[in-house]
Amino acid sequence: MKIARTKRELSEAIKGLRANGKRIALVPTMGALHKGHISLIDIARKHADSIVASIFVNPLQFGKNEDFNIYPRQEKEDLEKLNGANTDIAYLPGVDEIYPEGFVTSVIVGKNTDILCGRFRPGHFDGVATVVAKLLIQALPDVAIFGEKDYQQIHIIKRLVTDLDIPVKVIGAPIIREKDGLAMSSRNAYLTPEQRKTAVEIYKMLEDFRSRLKDKETIQALIKWGTEYLLGKGFTEIDYIEVRDSETLELIEKIGNKPARILAAARLGKIRLIDNIEV
Ligand code: AMP
Repeated sequence: MKIARTKRELSEAIKGLRANGKRIALVPTMGALHKGHISLIDIARKHADSIVASIFVNPLQFGKNEDFNIYPRQEKEDLEKLNGANTDIAYLPGVDEIYPEGFVTSVIVGKNTDILCGRFRPGHFDGVATVVAKLLIQALPDVAIFGEKDYQQIHIIKRLVTDLDIPVKVIGAPIIREKDGLAMSSRNAYLTPEQRKTAVEIYKMLEDFRSRLKDKETIQALIKWGTEYLLGKGFTEIDYIEVRDSETLELIEKIGNKPARILAAARLGKIRLIDNIEV
């Protein structure tokens, strides 16, 4: 595995792969890698010959009072995991490499960035869109893999590559969960053992929500139920529980025959957890 820390090193390493006719996949991450991240690399391999995984904790996508400074950073372990997953290039740029002195441009996707997580994290998706656009332009991969754990993010990135004519295929990958159902996340490391037990309730709520929808309970009643359920289990704040069209992210009031997604975000003290399931 080659390690690139600068744009130039990345581009040299990619040139080498391209010279050998390789199809390239990019897997962007913020590190603190877990099995969810590794699953993206495994999926990437089905679509490409060579894999570039990036690790960059992007300051632009964190709000002022969010966890940028304490976000887990564990480069040595991450590099071992990437190597173990047969990654070809690990790209670990520093903040100055991505946002050098004088950087003032941002990419703003004009729809669906102020709903769901965007409502509670203003500017978050501008930061995501900007860094993803830069990483795609730097690596120019054939495909890029993103997890459905961040469902809204995939939607926004698909819009971004279409609108900016970035020639890459964006592929979504299923959510990898712990044995009890909690969606894997680097942020789960913040949970105390007691919070960890409560955390899984968000997934249990989503599953119950889905089965009660099938029993014809209304979405409105289930949102009320889900909110009370999570608060009763120890969540301190519910940012949202919503049902949206899987493709367009339009709000759905009644399940029809189009695919829908139940999405939720809730807080355990300072820790914010998100999850979603398909209906
Ligand atoms: P992050 O490091 O949290 O920015 O995530 C990097 C990529 O991994 C994103 O595309 C995430 O959606 C994806 N990802 C994170 N957690 C999971 C998971 N549990 N299952 C599948 N993909 C995930």
